Amino acid sequence: MKKCPCCGKQYSDDTSACPYDHYSLVPIGPTVSSSEAPGVAPNNFHHLSDAVRAASNRNMFIGGLWCVGGIAVTAITYTAASGGGTYFVAWGAIVFGAIQFIRGLAARSQGDDRRNWDSSARE
Ligand SMILES: [Zn+2]
Repeated sequence: MKKCPCCGKQYSDDTSACPYDHYSLVPIGPTVSSSEAPGVAPNNFHHLSDAVRAASNRNMFIGGLWCVGGIAVTAITYTAASGGGTYFVAWGAIVFGAIQFIRGLAARSQGDDRRNWDSSARE
């Protein structure tokens, strides 16, 4: 691995100069990436759990909204159909909201678990 001394980007050994700023690349150790270096790990970890907490809070908020909205739609249509019609149970919204809420809750309780953050970021 080689690293650009200007912008810090890493390149493979067959690259000789940074394509962005044209600095000559300097060789670095084969396996240690910047996120695994001991000096920056605590900082990264802290930053990561903040991001996870924010994402799980958002999950819980959105999930709560869907759940409440689904229950509201169900209640409104149920009331409207009380004279003897059909009513609509918003199972989809309620279940989706509940799942989203629980996922946020679970991610919050293990906020330092990187796999949770990755899976919730994809959706
Ligand atoms: Zn560079």
